[in-house]
Amino acid sequence: MDGPDVPPGSGGHSDKISWMPIRLLPRQLVDQIAAGEVVERPASVVKELVENALDAGATRIEVDVEGGGVDRIAVTDDGSGIAEPELPLAVASHATSKITSSDDLAAIVTMGFRGEALASVASVSRLSITSRPREAVAAARIAVDGGDAGPVAPAAGPPGTRVEVRQLFWNVPARRKFLRSAATELGRIEEVLESIALCRPGVAFRLVSDGKVRMDLPATDDPARRVRAVLGDVADALLEVQADLDLGGSPLAVWGLVGRPELARASARALRFALNGRAVLDRTLTHAVREAFRGLVEPGRTPLGFLAIELDPSTVDVNVHPAKTEVRFRQQQAVHGAVLRCVRSVLRAADLVPAFELGGTRGGGLDAAAAHPLGAGAERAPGPGGPMPSASFETFAAWAAATAVAPPVVEVASAGAGPLLHGNRTARRVMQVHGSYLVVEDREGILVVDQHALHERAMFEDLHARIAQSPLESQRMLVPAAVEVDARAAECADEAAPLLARLGIELVAAGPRSVLVQSFPTFLLGRGVEPAEFVPGLLARIADDGRADVEAALSEVLDMMACKAAVKAGDRLSGTELEALLDARERLERASNCPHGRPTSLRISLRDLERSFGRSTSASR
Ligand code: ADP
Ligand code: MG
Repeated sequence: MDGPDVPPGSGGHSDKISWMPIRLLPRQLVDQIAAGEVVERPASVVKELVENALDAGATRIEVDVEGGGVDRIAVTDDGSGIAEPELPLAVASHATSKITSSDDLAAIVTMGFRGEALASVASVSRLSITSRPREAVAAARIAVDGGDAGPVAPAAGPPGTRVEVRQLFWNVPARRKFLRSAATELGRIEEVLESIALCRPGVAFRLVSDGKVRMDLPATDDPARRVRAVLGDVADALLEVQADLDLGGSPLAVWGLVGRPELARASARALRFALNGRAVLDRTLTHAVREAFRGLVEPGRTPLGFLAIELDPSTVDVNVHPAKTEVRFRQQQAVHGAVLRCVRSVLRAADLVPAFELGGTRGGGLDAAAAHPLGAGAERAPGPGGPMPSASFETFAAWAAATAVAPPVVEVASAGAGPLLHGNRTARRVMQVHGSYLVVEDREGILVVDQHALHERAMFEDLHARIAQSPLESQRMLVPAAVEVDARAAECADEAAPLLARLGIELVAAGPRSVLVQSFPTFLLGRGVEPAEFVPGLLARIADDGRADVEAALSEVLDMMACKAAVKAGDRLSGTELEALLDARERLERASNCPHGRPTSLRISLRDLERSFGRSTSASR
């Protein structure tokens, strides 16, 4: 080639991309890059230091922070300590006492193993370690400043280790910019500590922030006690999950406590897991529990709880992510199924009707109802004292052949075979009040049922069962109904055809914003639901998540159908209808909640009534 011998990057526009030879990065920079993966914020430092303390066999761990951990984090433990000559190694990268060969990687039993946490943290802060092994007469100290280790010096201190991290990210301004307020960072530290504390009830944990004690958990040999201490004032609303299972030859043990549906929280952090003693955030496990609660809590909320799972360490890989919070199961499906089944069976066995505390403030069920995200609140009955529902006798008439208006109190004779509220009773007393609620006597007191919510649940289950067999029965429209939909919905009409066919709906796109409905489910037509009031929402729902998860979309759509077709607040019900509805309540599995997770029933217990009326429990009734 001729032409001048110009090194790349020496002219023209390539000036901007400055040319550099390949070279090994200085160790400090390597550590800072590694720190980017492990040390995201003060909470990640706390996590690494506390895990080290646990690996050292500590029984008491104290975390003391200032300024949300940005100014200072000190973690003190009473563990094994680090021998003086090993202090420089502890802060060197890829130095660990926990694994020696790649065989060890296959079955990790310690929290740490990568040997890079201390080096990483030290590279982005001013770190010091003061440590004294139990048998040593004195402590020793090493300080590292932005990665530069000083000499080991004698120091005073009790057996154990104290690691202090000051001025996190002082030398990495880019990282500092991502930090939030001290209060937010402190919140994350609490979160991390809680998750770890749940996994290790036998260790005492204390968190002090700017001189104030934020958490003080004594050691206990009863894991349930630790869970209650962390989850707070919800003890009587927790259900125990316990199972010893066999996953094709390898054992899987599950233990934990999950909150009743009304305790579900808006934050995904409400649900926590320990896997072989390690706090993990795992999609498989989270999904399994959510699935078990499906239909019992509203979709935007997360069940409250903690589950500890133990399985053969060689069947799970924890070396997937530097922070070691994500894992990979060898038998992912089996683990998912096992967790789903054991949580579900606990929920099935439990009486999930929320208690309505007279004069109390809890009423979790009521709060949950108020927070309904799907906007179906409009169909909720007005509370007592609110406006009476307008005469909607037509809808009632459409639901069933017109029957006489229910008398205020009905003695419903049981038809026989069906399960009864009171095992051996043959009649139950039911009253419909304000055309919206059914009041029923039950074993433990008085049950107040929201007729719309319960019927919606019943229809939902019924539709689910029917659709599993065959497509819903549909009726051909004499004149196809033109329905306006949004552009996105019109677009997905063709793609959604197979799903729609199962629902008994046939439609074709008729323009960028309209579809022609050719067939429509018979039962919806029978309930007076017109394609125009149903199809736009349906297509929007399918466009939203149908591509991602057809079954979830189907569930939501059946729910929409159930909601449209269910009796409304204000519909007067005949004796037979009341009976049918209450029978369904006993037959159905998730009768306690409507498909959105709102409660269908509330219970006023006899005990509460007696207390409220100032009668002692022993008073004759
Ligand atoms: P890893 O935990 O992956 O081994 P770290 O960088 O976190 O890597 O720690 C390096 C080493 O320092 C550990 O292997 C351990 O020997 C020692 N060490 C760290 N913290 C403590 C502690 N609190 N008590 C005793 N030894 C510790
Ligand atoms: Mg470590």
